[in-house]
Amino acid sequence: MLKTDILIIGSGCSGLYAAMQLPRDKKITIITKSDLESSDSYLAQGGICMLKDESDYDAYFEDTMKAGHYENDKKSVDIMIRSSQDVIKDMMSYGVRFAKNEDGSLAFTREGAHSTNRILFHEDITGKEITSHILERVKKLENVTLMEYTTMLDLITDDDYCYGAVIRENDGAIDKIMADVTILATGGVGGLFRHSTNFRHLTGDGLAVCLKHGVALEHVNYIQIHPTTFYSEKPEDRSFLISESVRGEGAHLLDKNGERFTNELLPRDILSREIQKQMAKDGTKFVWEDLRPIPREVLEKHFPNIVAHCQEAGYDPFTQPIPVVPAQHYFMGGIKVNHKSRTTMKQLYAVGETACNGVHGRNRLASNSLLESLVFAKRAARDIVKHYDDVRHDRELFEKVDISSYSDTAALERTYTRFVEDAIDAANNGQPAGAEYRTA
Ligand SMILES: Cc1cc2nc3c(=O)[nH]c(=O)nc-3n(C[C@H](O)[C@H](O)[C@H](O)COP(=O)(O)OP(=O)(O)OC[C@H]3O[C@@H](n4cnc5c(N)ncnc54)[C@H](O)[C@@H]3O)c2cc1C
Repeated sequence: MLKTDILIIGSGCSGLYAAMQLPRDKKITIITKSDLESSDSYLAQGGICMLKDESDYDAYFEDTMKAGHYENDKKSVDIMIRSSQDVIKDMMSYGVRFAKNEDGSLAFTREGAHSTNRILFHEDITGKEITSHILERVKKLENVTLMEYTTMLDLITDDDYCYGAVIRENDGAIDKIMADVTILATGGVGGLFRHSTNFRHLTGDGLAVCLKHGVALEHVNYIQIHPTTFYSEKPEDRSFLISESVRGEGAHLLDKNGERFTNELLPRDILSREIQKQMAKDGTKFVWEDLRPIPREVLEKHFPNIVAHCQEAGYDPFTQPIPVVPAQHYFMGGIKVNHKSRTTMKQLYAVGETACNGVHGRNRLASNSLLESLVFAKRAARDIVKHYDDVRHDRELFEKVDISSYSDTAALERTYTRFVEDAIDAANNGQPAGAEYRTA
């Protein structure tokens, strides 16, 4: 049996940043299902929003609310926007390099449904730039232990308190880890979908264990489909995203006759539907995205990885349109949390994409999720510190947990998948949410 003070499950930007914000005299253990870099945080291309100055507050608030169909939690939106400069300052202090203008000021780009440029970026690998710098910092902390290829199989709970987790370590051994506080930072649900931009191992495990232990979830049928992922005939592991900022910089969407058929900067959910409609009308499996309206030097400098991916797949975006199709991308719903990232169970927090504080409403505005993940991870850390004296232990219960019942992990995974899918469908009035992206 292992013992830690704070257990963080997941090594994406939210889990890592929470670790950075916790006191150095606490023993922190971060477990992660795959290697440290295999998180969606590393895949984020477009960027991260920041409130440029007070004059943009109202417009930023309105854009977020409008994209979310006004179902957003207003206080969460306010907290996210108001905390953005603080979080970006932290990132820059870790060495994160955001693009700059010639005069040295921060450069801002724009994506769909933003009324102005307010997105910081680093080429088209902003998530990797941010998360790798946080990870480097975390690795230097002597109070943090990182365990790769270690999977949370269950929470250990009693009487509405969480006392830690059952885990499978990288050698296959099943163990228990006792913790004063547990933070779920397990990311999204893309692994449940055949067509998704997410890593396949992100299967909503945090949600499954919450369902099992009666921890409240919210809006689990709010699943975002990204309008533009690279279309391939090959059964790929993961759909490659063609970032929204490509459209923000001027790319056009074209039908089978090479004609524009929509406003490319519509919110994601509406644009995805427009594309689906056009595909049905044209009888095609994709539409075209024409990157040629973007100046060559902008494409080369801002989107080098997207250009390289298209070229590897046999399309030259400098001279021809590329085929694109919508795919599952983001999860707005999740484990219900308050504004301090507390779940409905004591000593259990949830941060990042697996959590739902209502900030995104029914549909996320582009480039708000890295920001939200960081802002609310920091708030979780603050709240944990503030209430540490209230921590309750139950060693006897912990010792009684029989780990032999976890040996059939394949069966457990199937059960958890069913839990989450059933919860999503039930929240969606019995209809499979995102059904067209689910089937193989
Ligand atoms: C292709 C792509 C592009 C994106 N672009 C942008 C963008 O430009 N701007 C933006 O703001 N957002 C973007 N996003 C969304 C954003 O990247 C994510 O919402 C955010 O990074 C989520 O961070 P996280 O820490 O919650 O989860 P993740 O970074 O996904 O990390 C989840 C972690 O949990 C671990 N885990 C899961 N289950 C278990 C388990 N059972 N046991 C142990 N560990 C577990 C995983 O191994 C992983 O380490 C993009 C997402 C994708 C997929």
